Amino acid sequence: MTKKIFRSICFTAISALLTALVLIMAVLYSYFSDNRMKQLITQTELVARAVETQGLTYLDGLNLDGYRITWVDSDGSVKFDSTTDNKNMENHLEREEIKAALTKGFGQSSRYSATLTQKQLYCAKRLSDGTVIRLSVSHLTWLALFLSMLLPIFAILAAVICLSLFMAYRLSKKIIKPLNELNLDNPKSSDVYEELSPLINRISSQQLQIKAQSSELERKKDEFETATANMSEGIILLNENGFVISINQTASKLLGISSYCVGKELLLFDNTVGLSELLKNAAAGRHGEMPVSIGEEDYQFSASPIVSDGDVCGIALIIFDITEKKKAEQMRREFSANVSHELKTPLQSISGCAELLLNGMVGPGEVPRFSERIYSESKRMITLIDDIIKISHLDEGAADTRYEETDIYELAGTAVKNISSAAELAGVTVALSGKPAVINGIPQLLYEIVFNLCDNAVKYNKRGGNVFVDVSKDKNTVRLSVRDTGIGIPAEHHQRIFERFYRVDKSHSKEAGGTGLGLSIVKHAAMLHNAAIELESFPNKGTLVTVIFPA
Ligand code: ADP
Repeated sequence: MTKKIFRSICFTAISALLTALVLIMAVLYSYFSDNRMKQLITQTELVARAVETQGLTYLDGLNLDGYRITWVDSDGSVKFDSTTDNKNMENHLEREEIKAALTKGFGQSSRYSATLTQKQLYCAKRLSDGTVIRLSVSHLTWLALFLSMLLPIFAILAAVICLSLFMAYRLSKKIIKPLNELNLDNPKSSDVYEELSPLINRISSQQLQIKAQSSELERKKDEFETATANMSEGIILLNENGFVISINQTASKLLGISSYCVGKELLLFDNTVGLSELLKNAAAGRHGEMPVSIGEEDYQFSASPIVSDGDVCGIALIIFDITEKKKAEQMRREFSANVSHELKTPLQSISGCAELLLNGMVGPGEVPRFSERIYSESKRMITLIDDIIKISHLDEGAADTRYEETDIYELAGTAVKNISSAAELAGVTVALSGKPAVINGIPQLLYEIVFNLCDNAVKYNKRGGNVFVDVSKDKNTVRLSVRDTGIGIPAEHHQRIFERFYRVDKSHSKEAGGTGLGLSIVKHAAMLHNAAIELESFPNKGTLVTVIFPA
C-alpha cells in the first residue's frame, strides 16, 4: 500500500512539476524572445538613422556589445560587417531578412546556428540609398535554456521524491491504522472510513452467515457423533487421502486408537494387512470389504467411497463385528453334521433289523424283539426330529408364537402329571410345591422348559429317588426350580450341558431316550423370556436347576 501511495504521490508531484516547468519555461522563453527582438528592432532603427546621416564613419567607431552589424549593398554584397572582414563574405541577397528589407523596407528572421543551443535573431532596415543595415544578436534556444536548468530541475525532482516518500509513509500509516485496528468479530463497532461502510456491512453480514453456518455444522457434527457413538459398528470417516475426519467410540476401541488420530493419516495408527489397498480402492471409487481378525473376534471392514458431484471426496470405513455371525455359521455347520450323525444311527439300526426280517434270517421267536427294536428306534427318531424342529423354531426366534399371561405353577402341574408314569416306571417320586405365578410368555415354550427339566430329573435319577418341583414368586421374579436326588453332573460339564447334542454320558442318555437337545431347548426358550438359568449339581448327590423369570 505504501508503495502504491508513494508511486501515486510521486507521479502526481513530478507530473505537476514538469508541467509547471514546461509552462513557465514556455512563457518566459517567449517573453524574453519578444523582448530581445524588440530591443534588436530599436537598435536597428537607431543604427539605421545614424548610418543614414554619418555613413561608414559612424559604424567604424561603434561598439555595440553583443550585436553584430552588417551593411549590405542593394546588390547583396556586404559593405561592412562588425565581426568579419566584409571582403570574404558571400552575397547576402538571399538572406530572408535582407530580401524582406529590400522589398518592404524592413525584415526580420531567426536562424539556428551551428549548434542547437544558439539561435541568431536578425533585423534589417532599408536606408534611403537602397542599402540595408542589418543587426543580429544571439539568443539561447529552448534546449540551451533547459540544459542550463538541468541541475536545479534534478535537485527539485530529488526533493519531490523524498517528500513523496515521506508523505506516502505518513499517509499510508494514517490510512492503514484504522484498517489494522478493525475488529473483525464486530466490524460495525470500528470507526473506519465512510467509504468502507459497504465493505464493513458486507463483512458483518458474511460474519453472521459464517457463524450461523458453523453452528449448524457443529450441531450436525454433534448429532452425527451422538448417533454413531453408541453404535455397535465402528465408523471412521476419512478424506480422500486417508486422513481421519471422525471416528466413533467403537472404532477407537476396536483399533486401539483414541480420537487424537483425527486429522492424521489412519494408516499411521493402524497397519492391518490389506487396509491400505482397501482405502486406495475406495479413494478410486470402488467399494470393498475384507475380513479381519482382532484377537479372538472376527470383523468385517467395509470401505465405501463418498461421492459428491461425481468426485470422491471421502471414504466411509465401517467395521462390523461378525464374531456372532461366524459362530452361528459354525454352530449351524456343526448342528447339521450332528443331526445327520444322530439320525444315521437309529436309521442304520432300523434298516439292519428290517433287512434281517426280510431275508428270513430271524427265527419266529425273535421277531417280536426285532419289531420292538424297529419300533423303539423309530420312536427315538421321531423324538429327535421333534426336538430338531423345536430348536430350529427357536433359532428363528419363535416369531409365529404369541405371548400371553401364563401360570408357571399350572404348567408345572401339567408337566408333573405327564411325567408321572415315566417317573413311576423309574421308581422316582415327583412332588410339586409353590403357588400360582403368572408371567407374560409363550405357553408352549414355558411348558418345554418345565417338562424338559422334570424329564431330565427323572431320567438321570436313581431308583427310589425324588424330584422336587417348586414355583415361587417375589416382587421382581418368578422362580422355577427342579431339584433331583439323581446322579448329578460333574463340575467340568456344567458349562457345556446346554450345548446342542452334548451329553455327559452318551450311552446313558440314549438308554434313557435322550436326544441331547433338551437343555438347549430350555436355554433358548429361557433366553426368549429374558430368563436366567442357574445350575447346581454334585455327582451322586443330585442336581438343582433354577430358571428365574422377570415378573
Ligand atoms: P438329553 O436328551 O441327553 O437329556 P439334555 O440336553 O437334556 O439332553 O441334557 C444334556 C446332558 O446333561 C444329558 O445327557 C445329561 O448327561 C446331563 N443332564 C441333564 N440334566 C441332568 C440331571 N438332572 N442330572 C444329571 N445329568 C443331567
